[in-house]
Amino acid sequence: MQNKKFATRAIHAGQEADPSTGATIVPIYATSTFTQETPGEHKGYEYSRTGNPTRSALQECLASLEGARYGLAFSSGSAATDAVVNLLEPGENLVSCSEVYGGTFRLFNSIYGRRGLQATYVDDFRPKSFANALTPKTRMVWLESPTNPLLNIFDIQSIAKLAHNNGTLVVVDNTFATPYLQNPLALGADIVVHSTTKYLNGHSDLIGGAVVTSNQSLHEEMGFYQNAAGAVPSPFDSWLVLRGIKTLKVRMEAHQRGADEIASFLQDHAAVEKVYYPGLKQHPGHDLALKQMNGWGGMVSFTLSDPARVDSFFRKLNLFAVAESLGGVESLACHPCTMTHATIPEEKRKALGITSQLVRLSVGLEDPADLIEDLQEALEA
Ligand SMILES: *Cc1c(COP(=O)(O)O)cnc(C)c1O
Repeated sequence: MQNKKFATRAIHAGQEADPSTGATIVPIYATSTFTQETPGEHKGYEYSRTGNPTRSALQECLASLEGARYGLAFSSGSAATDAVVNLLEPGENLVSCSEVYGGTFRLFNSIYGRRGLQATYVDDFRPKSFANALTPKTRMVWLESPTNPLLNIFDIQSIAKLAHNNGTLVVVDNTFATPYLQNPLALGADIVVHSTTKYLNGHSDLIGGAVVTSNQSLHEEMGFYQNAAGAVPSPFDSWLVLRGIKTLKVRMEAHQRGADEIASFLQDHAAVEKVYYPGLKQHPGHDLALKQMNGWGGMVSFTLSDPARVDSFFRKLNLFAVAESLGGVESLACHPCTMTHATIPEEKRKALGITSQLVRLSVGLEDPADLIEDLQEALEA
């Protein structure tokens, strides 16, 4: 299967016809336990926290899409992140990009920080700045690319090279890009994390996460933790993510077509100060994205010129739902400063550029003409 193209793997990897019935679609194995012939003699499954056939199919498919040998599915992106951070020992150091998902920042500082993990944050995008932050105690570098909400791009390959010279693992949260647009393992990363809640499931009807790697010992350690801590997805949720993944390629292409149109509309609008979208030539990460990604994705952020019009903009939106999250078929608008990034201290938010005028859009699959009309009305309110 690995020699097949992305869209084919999305539909077939890990998803052979069901061996017991021939069901073409992987069934939802809604069972907590599995009957054994005699103690220890079974068909590979004993108890669904440890392993479930629907989850196995999802894990195999996710690994295939990232070009990884192993995949693990979790009950949320945060549980997936936790399984990776849990690899670290007290006293070890983690170097992360500053503009990291709020819940990830919370895990680093408020949960693992209390138990002796030292997190260091790098404020800019140069690989050299990451190299300078590495110490002999740095076990892991954590990157998100593109970042949330400003869609900055990190040079994954260069940072991975520098980190490996220091014996440091590289983790990439690939949620915003999806495996269709970016494969961090091929760029040198050791572990990839996803919130399947977003584009992978794509229909805003569940919470889920995943970790993939080709490193056997890391996989075994995280698999042990997955079973021990038990933050596994239900068979139904595993099945929904598998179903979502089947259309990932066509969805991502359509998300991007809409995002392209919306970014150029916003750029020409007098009420808009600045547009953040890697597809725009003047975006600082444009050339790098061209090199390491197969597209820009479906997220567009921008600042309103007039801070006094932020409230009326959100109130006037009609098709765009004002909501957190992203990556679903329906369009969402979010105010990072008071919603997704409210937990980040104000000073730090300001330094990052997450001001009260910043708006983040998750461009859905409605007709772009209708979405643009909705934005136009809200901008001119
Ligand atoms: C949503 C998100 C997470 C957390 O995932 P949950 O499924 O909400 O737990 C982690 N990283 C990124 C980039 C996200 O967007």
